Amino acid sequence: MSIQNKPFLASIPSVDRLLQRSDAGALIVRFGRSAVTDAIRGVLSKMRSPPGNAPTSNAADETAIMDRVAARLVEESQPSLRPVFNLTGTVLHTSFGRAALPVEAIEAVTLAARGASNLEYNLRDGERGDRDNHFEQQLCRLTGAEAATVVNNNAAAVLLVLNTLALRKEVPVSRGELIEIGGLFRLPDIMARAGCRLREVGTTNRTHLHDFEQAIGPKTGLVMKAHSSNYSIKGYTAAVAEPELARLCRDRSVPFVVDLGSGTLIDLRRLGLPHEPTPMEALKNGADIVTFSGDKLLGGPQAGIIVGRAALVAKIKRNPLKRALRVDKMTIAALSAVLRLYFDPDRLVERVPTLRWLARRVEAIRSCAERLCPLVAEPLDGIASVQVITCDSQIGSGALPAQRIASAGLAIKPMSTGRGSGTALKRLTSAFRNLPVPVIGRIEDGALVLDLRCLEDADETAFVARLANLALSASPAK
Ligand SMILES: *Cc1c(COP(=O)(O)O)cnc(C)c1O
Repeated sequence: MSIQNKPFLASIPSVDRLLQRSDAGALIVRFGRSAVTDAIRGVLSKMRSPPGNAPTSNAADETAIMDRVAARLVEESQPSLRPVFNLTGTVLHTSFGRAALPVEAIEAVTLAARGASNLEYNLRDGERGDRDNHFEQQLCRLTGAEAATVVNNNAAAVLLVLNTLALRKEVPVSRGELIEIGGLFRLPDIMARAGCRLREVGTTNRTHLHDFEQAIGPKTGLVMKAHSSNYSIKGYTAAVAEPELARLCRDRSVPFVVDLGSGTLIDLRRLGLPHEPTPMEALKNGADIVTFSGDKLLGGPQAGIIVGRAALVAKIKRNPLKRALRVDKMTIAALSAVLRLYFDPDRLVERVPTLRWLARRVEAIRSCAERLCPLVAEPLDGIASVQVITCDSQIGSGALPAQRIASAGLAIKPMSTGRGSGTALKRLTSAFRNLPVPVIGRIEDGALVLDLRCLEDADETAFVARLANLALSASPAK
């Protein structure tokens, strides 16, 4: 129950009076008059009705009020979307924005964002152009497709393809490929929303060509093969090979669509990883349409890439949904810049961060861990122990889900053990999360593990410079 403190209430200054102060003037220069006025109002109203107890002092202190106003303004001006250090060990992490763009793409985005561009204008003849012109040839040359188009993300690509080629028709899919990936993308649900009828074929572990032969009929719109990107089925399994399924589809005159998910444009064996199917291979195997993401292994902006037969792509482009799902100029700028890098394969891996991080050698990561270990340990002295460890990274976003990549990092363990160590670990992860550039790791065996695969040498200094307040927030509350 709050007791009204009359002298205190009377001493609260007016908004106008506070706005006249020189410290208010400085805040106005920084944040604008309207934001400062609002912040002052907010702070004053809290003083008039404080939660819980009445104020202890008898007079309001103007300087203290302005400090609260400044703190409020600083907090409010923090953008919601902020950079973080993704040290989870998952290189393509959807929660952390998946692929980081190459500098070439960042420059292209900046240029496109800054002013007018020939987005849908043909500079040769001064006629209206098509936004797909900015990347279609590149995609065709890189994948061997006849035509290409791009939409907002791969989920949109799948939706658009299904809706264009199989509206009110059946789509046979192997029961082993009825995938759900994060963020509510479930193939059966997308199918329903696209206006198609899913026709389940075969069993969870085994699907044969004759299963498809029986399923394809006059009601079939297309046959779809989905890359089982976030799981693998092992043991007594059978799937129909792409060339076989493609041949059957051709004989029955139904389009054969492959949803690759990650869809890398290079052979991952170059990075010392197992092979992952490429759009080029799917097309060679006879796929009529292939869909894949722009921000997974390709290493570009969020986008859903559709490549394949010219007649089918033309139909897809004419679907009104294409207009609703189209990409904006910044995506086009970034995608086209990233694709350009693929024409110089020798320098590709060093230029595309996703590929560079995946290719990073464990020895280099370990040296980084050894350099950082004492610098992270210092502010945590007496709070937590820090150790260089070997650990496993993964690609993420569904690519090669069972594959682990040898990596190195730091294991940070709270000093207190036994009862209360869970709280100490929580406090530690929260301290790292609350740094000026939040640091996100993963919990393993009672320690916070920072996998340093994605912390490049060039970012080390910035990382260390921001550890200063760690001790304060990681130590137990007094
Ligand atoms: C990731 C993925 C999708 C969805 O792609 P987004 O770009 O995230 O929309 C669809 N299908 C498969 C097989 C995937 O791996």
